[in-house]
Amino acid sequence: MVSVKCPVCGGDVQLPEDVVAGEIIEHDCGMTLEVVVDNNTVKLRPFEGVGEDWGE
Ligand SMILES: [Zn+2]
Repeated sequence: MVSVKCPVCGGDVQLPEDVVAGEIIEHDCGMTLEVVVDNNTVKLRPFEGVGEDWGE
């Protein structure tokens, strides 16, 4: 497992070692996170859902 920090709540997020960039993960805090791989370092960023209606 790989342990990374949630960029939103700062909590730990456990990812499988074979996680791939672009994978979408839902964290305990309710945030949807996207996996980003940068120089072999796994990171997370808040996923801005495509086609979701944030308007109302
Ligand atoms: Zn979180």
